[in-house]
Amino acid sequence: MTLATVAPRASLDGVSLDALTARLGTPLYVYSASAIRERIRSLQAALHGMDALICFAVKANSNRGVLGFMHEHGVGADIVSAGELWRALQAGIPAERIVFSGVGKSASEMDEALAAGILRFNVESHDELLTLQRVARARGTVARAAVRINPDVDALTHAKISTGKAENKFGVSIDEARRWFASRHELSHVQLDGLHVHIGSQVLSLGPFREALQRVAAFWRELVAQGHPIHSIDAGGGLGVCYREGHDQPVDAADYIAIVREALAGFEGRLLLEPGRYLVGEAGVLLTRVIRTKHGDQRNFLVLDAAMNDLARPALYDAWHDIVPVAENTHPMTTYDIVGPVCETGDTFARNRALPTCAPGDLLMIRTAGAYGASMASTYNSRPLAAEVMVDAGRYAVVRQRQRFEDMVAGEQPAKHWETA
Ligand SMILES: *Cc1c(COP(=O)(O)O)cnc(C)c1O
Repeated sequence: MTLATVAPRASLDGVSLDALTARLGTPLYVYSASAIRERIRSLQAALHGMDALICFAVKANSNRGVLGFMHEHGVGADIVSAGELWRALQAGIPAERIVFSGVGKSASEMDEALAAGILRFNVESHDELLTLQRVARARGTVARAAVRINPDVDALTHAKISTGKAENKFGVSIDEARRWFASRHELSHVQLDGLHVHIGSQVLSLGPFREALQRVAAFWRELVAQGHPIHSIDAGGGLGVCYREGHDQPVDAADYIAIVREALAGFEGRLLLEPGRYLVGEAGVLLTRVIRTKHGDQRNFLVLDAAMNDLARPALYDAWHDIVPVAENTHPMTTYDIVGPVCETGDTFARNRALPTCAPGDLLMIRTAGAYGASMASTYNSRPLAAEVMVDAGRYAVVRQRQRFEDMVAGEQPAKHWETA
């Protein structure tokens, strides 16, 4: 049993959370603009004097309001699909601040990204490199590309979000990348002049970053010595955040950037970074009300109006999220299994979690829900997508309306028009 050590928090950025949910209902995602701004500024400050571009990993939170906020603060985008490209462009992020990652870019997605004129492709396989060459040639343009290096480093994170080990599907070995550069002149329409590495997500120690960057840096020096110019090095994302107060100890942005500076000493090209979780994770909370308590033979259940369709991380990764009452609650502690209404045993936010005894209607806050929360949400069990709101200096702006049933079924239709393919 773990005691709830986290103090209640009745407001965020000067906005009363109780009043907010009275207006907008629950479940409700709330993002603190000041917290996101603070994260952007801390990274930008650490990068002072470097030729660096922060590209927000759109998959962490792809809300257009959030992307627009990133854009206002000079942050670009790291995308992994044509849909994310579209969102980023819609949010005003210029193509020259967009990089494209991912193992499964299709030819048509590459073509869309080339048409938009994105900054760079992070290429993850030889087949992808050849496809990019073919697509760029057909379009009569030259694609700028970086090789995503799989440095075979253990990020010491959850297996499902580790990406930098040889056994993972991401990137290519340095040996393979070496062959790509040796034959880069055969690529008439791909300018291969960058390196990229991303070892995984929710990384809580500097060691794995240092190790990966040192390997990439050694390779960069080797390539340059062989006459292959390297114009950009992309250090990826992965900076962890605090999900469990008093337990997770995230690394400091300044310390992280110091590692980058040290590993890449002498590099005169452009540094790219792709933080996702770090920028938005702790800035977001998911507000939810208690529907009822249920006392089973062996356990006490706290049934919330939020569920795994709203926030999938606990079901997907057994992830911990601190859960606290919004209002001061001085009742004696009870140990609960905290669950949602979805018809799956996996719809459990926490097991054996001690909270001050709750009653139906109590407002709770699931913390550190700003990353991989709303962006992973679904309408499973026909539960409409939750509303999302940004708060800043005593005001709020709805950045996603609560989905209506009509929107939830948009595009669906009765099987009336039968055709042959
Ligand atoms: C997911 C992802 C990121 C962002 O990861 P965070 O852990 O959210 O910082 C960055 N780069 C690539 C290639 C990714 O796939």
